[in-house]
Amino acid sequence: MSFSPSIAGLSAALTDLSNTLATPPSNAFARLGGSFLTRLPAAPLAAPYLVGFSAETAARLGMPEGIERDPGFVELFCGNATRDWPADALPYASVYSGHQFGVWAGQLGDGRALGLGELEHDGERLELQLKGAGRTPYSRMGDGRAVLRSSIREYLCSEAMHHLGIPTTRALCVIGSDQPVRRETIETAAVLTRVAPSFVRFGHFEHFYANDRIDALRALADHVIERFCPHCKEADDPYLALLAEAVRSTADLMVDWQAVGFCHGVMNTDNMSILGLTIDYGPFGFMDGFDAGHICNHSDTQGRYAYRLQPQIAYWNLFCLAQGLLPLFGARHDESVRADKAVEDAQHVLAGFRERFAPALENRMRAKLGLEQARDGDDALVNRLFEVMHANRADFTLTFRNLARLSKHDASGDAPARDLFLDRVAFDAWANDYRARLAAESRDDTTRAIAMNRVNPKFVLRNHLAETAIQRAKEKDFSEVERLATVLRRPFDEQPEHASYAGLPPDWANSLEVSCSS
Ligand code: AMP
Ligand code: MG
Repeated sequence: MSFSPSIAGLSAALTDLSNTLATPPSNAFARLGGSFLTRLPAAPLAAPYLVGFSAETAARLGMPEGIERDPGFVELFCGNATRDWPADALPYASVYSGHQFGVWAGQLGDGRALGLGELEHDGERLELQLKGAGRTPYSRMGDGRAVLRSSIREYLCSEAMHHLGIPTTRALCVIGSDQPVRRETIETAAVLTRVAPSFVRFGHFEHFYANDRIDALRALADHVIERFCPHCKEADDPYLALLAEAVRSTADLMVDWQAVGFCHGVMNTDNMSILGLTIDYGPFGFMDGFDAGHICNHSDTQGRYAYRLQPQIAYWNLFCLAQGLLPLFGARHDESVRADKAVEDAQHVLAGFRERFAPALENRMRAKLGLEQARDGDDALVNRLFEVMHANRADFTLTFRNLARLSKHDASGDAPARDLFLDRVAFDAWANDYRARLAAESRDDTTRAIAMNRVNPKFVLRNHLAETAIQRAKEKDFSEVERLATVLRRPFDEQPEHASYAGLPPDWANSLEVSCSS
């Protein structure tokens, strides 16, 4: 068989890529060793094909343009190629534990994810992980697989979140197969390649704490400090500084989620990234009509992870992380007081959550309303907007987007936002107060609108948009997955040609349910 030069070039690039991933020593996390992970090849996936591919993520990893066209690409990223890798470079499943729905769940671990290793490009080192690549020692009762439906949802949402400016794991590609997978119905298998600086979770720390493996706990913390917050080493207590970093990044992440109406759905401590990334997309959802108590996960019967509770749950999860790190705190104190001081110090650091979150959310909400200066009463104005939105189940994304059209002088631009509210009287009352508040700002309407459109997205991954792309993909038409991904990569742009992607959900979307099953 003869290759055209460009294909031969791609093949060489792919061979290089495979060799990099298949050659020890692999990445820093894997070098932590056998207490942290088990190496094994991916399970074979029958007749794999490409479903979705992010050229942008590929470029960020230093892959040449067009690499996905090489047949070796699909073989590598469905995991099949890993079956030939040397034993000491095989992919790995890591062990972690965690609190699920508020209850200690004991050992969990990567039950269907395999670390491939890490790639370095442009001074950035990113780990690659295959999700759905088969059973691991941590699969418990699971089959180690992910279905096409949930893999497409994660692919689309992680790319969308990135372009909303929200820290997240990213996606390189989705590989599908006709291989059946049993969930509530028979579906088909898919493997998602996700990419992040690190996949370490709160649950990794909890695991070694719970098993009294303090040396391993310290090694893990040292790894994260060394790689992601080397400045922590200069602090009086580097491990407390690590906790403070997690408090800060998690608080910031909650501001980001709340500000776009994103619900994660399963904020268990094993689904919380130590770097404050959005991770493990399962039954997530962007709200359409605003409901402060919205529960996006059909399996969350108590509503533990309802929209309005997310920041509090993040705080609760940080307590679990602090508990896990506790044995490392306070080394600078005398042994007789160390334990007491450690708790005191941890509580002090955790208190930083509220100090970080509350003003940051206020600032974000002010930006969403196009207010440049902070004034007394802004908080009340925001809260009243949410109350009216909640009472009317006004569309979250469109309400904020359309507020940019309001004029500070008269009601001429009210209609796009106003029409989203059944109770027009309530909206008008709020809009008049908003207008009065805008009068105190020096910016003109046009400048304010431009600024607002940079923080209030027009396009988010609404459930019905994902569902349409999934249904087409099930019929082997993957074009809608890519079209939707392309729209979501420019969420703040008008994109008038894609207006239909910004509209209210159709009636059938009301019956969509997302559960933990993925
Ligand atoms: P989640 O809440 O979906 O992040 O998953 C919780 C735990 O269940 C993690 O340890 C996952 O690796 C594991 N898990 C979820 N689905 C499967 C599956 N199909 N096969 C094996 N393990 C799974
Ligand atoms: Mg998980």
